[in-house]
Amino acid sequence: MHMTGGPRLWPGIRGADAPPHAPGVRMSAPGRSLPTMGSAEAHVEAGGRSVRISSPDKLLFPDAGVTKLDLATYYANVADGLFRGLARRPVALNRFPDGLGGKSFFTKSAPKGFPDWASTARVTFPSGRTGDEVCVTEPATVLWTVQMGTLELHAWPVRDDDTDHPDELRIDLDPQPGTGFAEAVEVARQAQALFEEHGIRPFVKTSGGRGLHLLVRIEPRWTFVEARRAVIALARELERRRPELVTTSWWKEERGERIFIDFNQMARDRMTVAPYSTRARPDAPVSMPVRWADLGDVAPGDFTVQTVPDLLAKNGDANAEIDDVAHSLDALLEMADRDEKDRGLGDLPYPPDFPKMPGEPKRVQPSKARNDQEEGS
Ligand code: ATP
Ligand code: MN
Repeated sequence: MHMTGGPRLWPGIRGADAPPHAPGVRMSAPGRSLPTMGSAEAHVEAGGRSVRISSPDKLLFPDAGVTKLDLATYYANVADGLFRGLARRPVALNRFPDGLGGKSFFTKSAPKGFPDWASTARVTFPSGRTGDEVCVTEPATVLWTVQMGTLELHAWPVRDDDTDHPDELRIDLDPQPGTGFAEAVEVARQAQALFEEHGIRPFVKTSGGRGLHLLVRIEPRWTFVEARRAVIALARELERRRPELVTTSWWKEERGERIFIDFNQMARDRMTVAPYSTRARPDAPVSMPVRWADLGDVAPGDFTVQTVPDLLAKNGDANAEIDDVAHSLDALLEMADRDEKDRGLGDLPYPPDFPKMPGEPKRVQPSKARNDQEEGS
């Protein structure tokens, strides 16, 4: 997508030199974005539904020159890949109604102005309370989130027909200070090999931040507790194989210059940014699915609102086959059993906002625990 600076006279703001085809809007592609000329609003279409975009020329990413209409158009252009990852998932919206740099907040429940064609899905939080969260039932739901000023879509790893059983295992690879994307790629390859030893096919995407996310389609037969346990087992095996490169320590003081595998991202009510979602950063980066064969040749900065539509049109969705096979977690859970029986390795700490979980170790920083012990003795 080509963006230029200077006044943007389309659409709706009728100027003498308004181009018939606005940059980035593929007028020729059927079912794509169709700005309504002649009024201070636009209509963008995805999946057969047209969504009104008010203030289409409002800059949502000022540094990158990306307007509200540009962003809606972007999502319309990547609708197939986007919807593959988001279909029927409850989402949280990271909203910047005045654009990046302005105020921001998270929206989970359906806000005012929720369209009558859109849906919510009921989820249960760690506290046991429930909520009805915005659910992406069609590509146009995402266009509506742009109308609401959303710059990031964060999705539950569940679908609306069973929000207690994840259908997606997620491995969050977080570079710690002193490491970066290259090390995350190295760990991703190790993880891919380990998964494949168990006949599991993982997919990978950039986070749009510093690291990577691995995604595995699983049968929705296991609880969040079990799915997190599976991730912990995988992470511990990777840590044993590459101790200089991988850490599973929840405590920052113990992580060192390694890739932290954030197993708590698999806990209930933890979301991951959706494939093809933008991130709220100046360059308008995108969380981009990548083929394993290409992973060594990419940098996170390659993928932005401007570059991704053409890459997707040219190369197709690297996640296109993610729904072909739903895997079993049995092999990873057997690894977890062995860790427990043979190595005495039990659960790891949950995040601070969680109630105390059964079998969870004491949630206290190791250095603090040592100090307390000395003071107490
Ligand atoms: P990076 O590669 O830089 O780690 P990331 O997207 O993985 O980027 P994390 O901090 O590891 O960022 O968080 C993992 C996921 O947790 C995010 O993709 C996002 O969906 C969710 N997340 C992180 N912080 C928040 C937050 N403050 N509120 C809601 N969701 C969040
Ligand atoms: Mn991360």
